[in-house]
Amino acid sequence: MPPRAWFLVHPEGLVVRSDGDRVELPDDDDAAALGVLAEGGHDLGALDDGTPAIAAALGKGPVAAPFKVGPLRGLYASLGDARFMMAGRASQIVEWGDTHRFCGRCATPMQRIPNQRCMRCPKCDFLGYPRIAPAVIVLVRRGDEALLARGARFPGAFYSTLAGFVEIGESLEETLAREVREEVGIEVTSTRYFGSQPWPFPHSLMVGYFAEWAGGDIRPDGSEILDARWFRVTELPAIPPRVSIARRLIDAWIADVAQSP
Ligand SMILES: [Zn+2]
Repeated sequence: MPPRAWFLVHPEGLVVRSDGDRVELPDDDDAAALGVLAEGGHDLGALDDGTPAIAAALGKGPVAAPFKVGPLRGLYASLGDARFMMAGRASQIVEWGDTHRFCGRCATPMQRIPNQRCMRCPKCDFLGYPRIAPAVIVLVRRGDEALLARGARFPGAFYSTLAGFVEIGESLEETLAREVREEVGIEVTSTRYFGSQPWPFPHSLMVGYFAEWAGGDIRPDGSEILDARWFRVTELPAIPPRVSIARRLIDAWIADVAQSP
């Protein structure tokens, strides 16, 4: 069997091997040393260099050197794009396994179906799949300005695009219009799809859009949104880090404004 890269999900983040400044994913020997059982792992597919990746849960409590636990967001710089996204996938799959141990209908212990991302109840045949919560994220434009907001729950002191979860029975376009109306009190039109990104905090799929301002003055709701303003490219506040689709939306807007006559 080729050597595998282990994404060991701990209640406080991801377990990595730390040699000085170098951060590595644990290998098979490391996983065994940490007491992880190979048969308990979830197959994640391969990393970009072909190394098979596997996810497993590690119980709470300290890990001994050379291993350490780091919050997932903080590992972006040392893991790089591909491994960071795989770590996000690992944390969601481990969370799914942890929260689907018993049947939601009859409380019987669930069994994993081999080679599928599915749990099955041996008593009533109830199937449990991983949850994915779609959310809309939108950059609203007005002329050469963009609406950016400071949210109460943002992890940093920056201004970003508006976002909100899709409710049951809603289309993405309805979510977009409702969220913008609720959070800042304006109406939008001309929504245009931009791209999407899985986001493991906790199990979202962010669906990105541009939209144009159609009417109304900004009125932050005061609970989710603390402040929101129209910004020009030349007077940008602190914006989110590059890993996020929010930043990709903002960068695409900046590039578009730069190309406009
Ligand atoms: Zn059942």
